[in-house]
Amino acid sequence: MTSNDRRFPLTRRRLLGASTAVATATIAAEVARPTSAVAATVSATPSWQGAPGSSGVHLRWLGNNAWEITFGTTTILIDPWLTRFKTGTYTPEGIRDDTPLTVDPTKIDPYIRGANLILVCHGHYDHMTDVPYIAARTGATVLGTESHHNMLRALGAPASQFCTVRGGEYLQYDGFTVEVFRSLHSMTGASKQVPYPGTRPGTVPPRPTTVADLVEGDTLAYQITIGERFRILALSTANFVERELSGLRPDLAIVAAGGGTVHDYVGRLMGTLDHPTWVLPTHWDDFDYPLNQPAVDWGGLQPLQQAVKAASPKTTFVNLDHLEMFTP
Ligand SMILES: [Zn+2]
Repeated sequence: MTSNDRRFPLTRRRLLGASTAVATATIAAEVARPTSAVAATVSATPSWQGAPGSSGVHLRWLGNNAWEITFGTTTILIDPWLTRFKTGTYTPEGIRDDTPLTVDPTKIDPYIRGANLILVCHGHYDHMTDVPYIAARTGATVLGTESHHNMLRALGAPASQFCTVRGGEYLQYDGFTVEVFRSLHSMTGASKQVPYPGTRPGTVPPRPTTVADLVEGDTLAYQITIGERFRILALSTANFVERELSGLRPDLAIVAAGGGTVHDYVGRLMGTLDHPTWVLPTHWDDFDYPLNQPAVDWGGLQPLQQAVKAASPKTTFVNLDHLEMFTP
């Protein structure tokens, strides 16, 4: 039932995006470098000069909505989920609700070197399952809602590292800021439902054991501003609150595929953000397939690319493959 024999004959992204980003994307060949070497090899003298390729900011796609953003000696992780256990999410049969939550350090450690911050966008299994392990290993501060933190605590995450947010925060760090915005999850099916909906406020719930136990717990969007110049907006799922994001004008937006049930999802988003210079697609790969192979599109990539082009023709659509890095 979980046979993997249709693995990677398709490499569909190659049909779509080979011309868009390869020139500026480079495979992060150093991914296996041990954590201890990181501080010495990441430049301590960022150059935020604003021109493409000289921002001093690197974005690496770790599959699904997992991103590593590095600049200077800082590393920010977004929804780092690398274990990618099989769920059947994108099969005709759909996700198996009783799929157990598992964490596999052998699939995480080669790619996660260290982290200062982990931004949790929402609470689902494909965003949050690996966070307790990565937080404990890196010592990173974990931003998320009260519900996210309660579920993470139930999974054993160190509560002393939580920074609980709800939207509206404007946080100052050393050389960068993080703004937090209320956002919305994508809605699917005839009744437009959020998968595994709900919140876990108040007390810590029983330990989540299956994918169905990790509920949305509200959805957040984050804008990271580096050196008071370069702005990255991160959206984890195909929906947003227009009035929350109005006026932000990020340089780069990480935008999730999907959104067919949301009125003019991409068109409104591009207009609300005043047409970012770069859009990086996210959440478009079928995560039944591994991270160390080319991404397999579940079908959302080309519609997103076309919608961005139609709504924002001057925006560059930077289509990274698994583990590729972009330096704007
Ligand atoms: Zn989700």
